[in-house]
Amino acid sequence: MSRTFDVLEWTIAAARGDSYPDFPEHPQITVYDTGVIAIEPEQGSSKDVILSCAVHGDETAPIELVRDMIHAVLDGTLEIRQRVLFMIANPWSIVAGKRFVEVNMNRLFSGAHATGDTLEHQHAAKLERYVERFYTSAPAGQRQRYHYDLHTAIRDSAYEKFAVYPFRHGQPYKREQLTFLAECGVSTILLNQAPTTTFSYFSSHQFGADAFTVELGKVRPFGQNDMSRFAAADHMFRQLISTETLELPEFDVSRHHIFDVCRTIDRTQTEFRLNFPDDVANFTPFSQGELLAVDGTTEYHVEQAQERIIFPNANVAIGQRALLTVTELPVAELDLV
Ligand SMILES: [Zn+2]
Repeated sequence: MSRTFDVLEWTIAAARGDSYPDFPEHPQITVYDTGVIAIEPEQGSSKDVILSCAVHGDETAPIELVRDMIHAVLDGTLEIRQRVLFMIANPWSIVAGKRFVEVNMNRLFSGAHATGDTLEHQHAAKLERYVERFYTSAPAGQRQRYHYDLHTAIRDSAYEKFAVYPFRHGQPYKREQLTFLAECGVSTILLNQAPTTTFSYFSSHQFGADAFTVELGKVRPFGQNDMSRFAAADHMFRQLISTETLELPEFDVSRHHIFDVCRTIDRTQTEFRLNFPDDVANFTPFSQGELLAVDGTTEYHVEQAQERIIFPNANVAIGQRALLTVTELPVAELDLV
């Protein structure tokens, strides 16, 4: 079937200020904003699901996943049974072909957008309102809220796919969510031990959603993604929004790798360097005593056995996180429900 409307072209055209045909009339679809599209079945839903992508504009595979799901709804090949809000979060960074235009938008939620006035600050504030509108306009009754914020990482990873579980403020972690993510091919989980300004923490903390930052693989340009690597995640997200009751296997401890943040190393000085090559993969273990980073005159050495590095980026703005280290936690030690 030939397509006359392309949701990504529409989003990009709007971000550029170009004209493009209006979003097609569809009885179940409400367009909140450019790239922010709610789809609501007439009745019978019990879940409110947010699938967001392009918080970082060069992370193309999640954008292609979301685009294709929206197209499948428009084509009538994906029947939606649960409320879903698709968010192409930062169209301007897609146009720029960059992670962000001025500021990393995934540091601007939970009110942090009030500290500046860039396009990203302004848009993060709007995205928070769209999340609120979507969750609070659900029909009355017992409902479950979800938010999967989809990313790909800048570098290779010893564990290709992983998810960040936002800080729970003492609430237990959910076996059902760990199992769902494992079914998506995401069996590695990183536990955040403090509030953050990420999009997923916002939905988790403000709206009690089961929310995650999901890293699905490595950044590649549009059209160069091997979509078979994302097939499991694509299948599970489609199942989540197109079935009344999602069938999941029993929780199996042996499927999951859980990592706890050991240390956060911020860049505080102009003179900052990481003491390892740019292409070292996420989750690479380092030996006790090894030098990790030099911040001005402060040296950071590995303190724990099997401390692994994650999200290294020496080029962050001063005051921002340049590196995390993590250690593995036995699943049996988790407070699970
Ligand atoms: Zn990202």
